Amino acid sequence: MLRTAGIHHITAFVGHPQRNLDFYGGVLGLRLVKKTINFDAPEVYHLYFGNEQGDPGTIITFFPWEGARKGIVGAGQVGITKYAVPIGAYDFWKQRLQRLQVPFEEHQRFGEQYLQFADPDGLVLAIVERAEGTESAWSIAGITPNSAIKGFDGAVLYSHAPKNTAHTLEHVLGLTFVGEDQGFARFKAHGDIANIIDVNMNPMNEGIGGAGTVHHIAWRTTDVEEQGKWRNVVSQAGFSPTPIVDRQYFTAIYFREEGGILFEIATDPPGFTTDEEFAHLGEKLMLPAWYEHHREQLTQLLTPIALKLPKEDE
Ligand code: ZN
Repeated sequence: MLRTAGIHHITAFVGHPQRNLDFYGGVLGLRLVKKTINFDAPEVYHLYFGNEQGDPGTIITFFPWEGARKGIVGAGQVGITKYAVPIGAYDFWKQRLQRLQVPFEEHQRFGEQYLQFADPDGLVLAIVERAEGTESAWSIAGITPNSAIKGFDGAVLYSHAPKNTAHTLEHVLGLTFVGEDQGFARFKAHGDIANIIDVNMNPMNEGIGGAGTVHHIAWRTTDVEEQGKWRNVVSQAGFSPTPIVDRQYFTAIYFREEGGILFEIATDPPGFTTDEEFAHLGEKLMLPAWYEHHREQLTQLLTPIALKLPKEDE
């Protein structure tokens, strides 16, 4: 049976791109590893943040659109995007959020303590200590590798049909059921990061897409050959996957699972150094070849953005 290693990336809608860059690049200290456009709507940025090289399992991506209608987090979406930090880094993050005036709550699930908070657009995030996973080498904004976000811990899924979603995680994507706590069913993939998926089994209100909500969650596959096999597995399970789509930094298939959440399966290669050197990731607006001759017009449609670090870190 094919088994995904865990989350490849998570993609969300947000409002102003500058505010988005300042929060993920400054407050959370992730690296902007790619600045490109939405290939399906080229007047909108597509910003990718991750560890120093944007490894699978560390990547959160955004379609920022000024004046976007605010969405509602609820069933049919990824409800909480969870980040993993090294053991001992919890208090650093608690103090950092306090100092930067990001309101947070503290929760416990499966015996683990979480900092839960929202980005400026309302996207719900959490931070938890995790021993597994490699420390990020990206050191910025007063955040050193022994406190930096390593990547995703995982995600909490809000489903219209949690039993069906749980079934798909276990029997289609190949995750292992771990247990249940406070109405959350936990599943684990075999990767060392971005592999802890909780499904909220409690009834929930409907989510509405818009700024501050996740658009889709992508699962890892090793290469395009395995992706073809995944396409068959997903079809045989009764879903309707798209053909394989070229996303420049990976190839993708998409399908909607029974709980209403849009799933993608994305290849680990080629990654973000395919069109920019490691030292200069995220610096230039990158366009796929088929848009390159529109560069000038596209650049005029996009608001210029540049990272501003939080004041206390300057
Ligand atoms: Zn995606």
